[in-house]
Amino acid sequence: MEVVDKGLLQQLVEGQISDIDVDEMRRMTKKDPERFWTYLDILQEKVTWDNKILMRLNDHLYIVMNGTERIVKCDCGHEYGDYRVNWKLHTDIRTRDTQDSMEQVYYPAAAAPDPEWMELREFYCPGCTAQLAVEIVPPGYPLIFESFPDLDRFYREMMDKPLADESPDWFKDKTADFLAAL
Ligand SMILES: [Zn+2]
Repeated sequence: MEVVDKGLLQQLVEGQISDIDVDEMRRMTKKDPERFWTYLDILQEKVTWDNKILMRLNDHLYIVMNGTERIVKCDCGHEYGDYRVNWKLHTDIRTRDTQDSMEQVYYPAAAAPDPEWMELREFYCPGCTAQLAVEIVPPGYPLIFESFPDLDRFYREMMDKPLADESPDWFKDKTADFLAAL
């Protein structure tokens, strides 16, 4: 297998691929350089909006072009704004910080963390209520910015196809600025 065909990648994205095909893809001596572009095509065909996808962040969220901006967008269409600001700030957050609320999601209940030391945060999309992430942290800990990719570097150095709007400003975490302006 020199080039992974689009049908196989589609099965991979949908979680329907066979173990044998995954194994074969893993064993390819040289990775197919077109794979990322085919993958983006598949994602773009799956969503109902037209913004160009630059990168997928998780099962529901994408970094996309929106005019001259790069924003985070859910597959449901809900927009989270500038991708340099932690998107979790724009979600509906449920915090489990009592023994009872922790035990609802832990089995066996004895495995639940001690709420004196830890809290569990669940992040939901305001547009479609999909659960986007879960984090377990000490109470008061800042929201974890789990993925802040250097898109310009990725496209230029890894994919050999620089983005047209390259700028050093794109790889600056703006979360603190956003919070300071509230
Ligand atoms: Zn959504």
